[in-house]
Order: sequence, then structure tokens, then C-alpha cells
Amino acid sequence: MRVACPTCKKDSEWSEGNTSRPFCSERCKLIDLGEWANEGHTIPGTPSIEAFESIEELNPEFGDGIPSEDRLH
Ligand SMILES: [Zn+2]
Repeated sequence: MRVACPTCKKDSEWSEGNTSRPFCSERCKLIDLGEWANEGHTIPGTPSIEAFESIEELNPEFGDGIPSEDRLH
């Protein structure tokens, strides 16, 4: 059975030995997965873990244990 590779549209053999199926090669499989992952990162309004980490870096006092009373006086 032959199928068209979703990435490069080239005919490839659909067999048990082809671990990249339905892609013709591992490379085409990774390309397709990469495009899928990039789309996932562009969803608007979805805060990432990286965003939260950068907030802590910009505010070193954040959670540093400084008593609030000292800061008021
Ligand atoms: Zn391909």
C-alpha cells in the first residue's frame, strides 16, 4: 500500500517497517510536528510557563521574605 506523504506529497510505502508513516521519512514527520507545535504557541491569550518565570525575574523581591511592616516605615 502506498500513501502520499502529508509533508512533501511524495508517494511512500505504508508498511510496518516504516515507523514514520504516513510520512515518507523521519524528516517529513518532524517537519509536520514542528509546524503543529508552532501553531500551538501562537494561540492568543494563553499565558505560558515562561511568562510566569520572567515575572519573578523582573521582581526579585517577589516572595523574597521581606516583612511588609519594614517596607511601610
Ligand atoms: Zn515526505
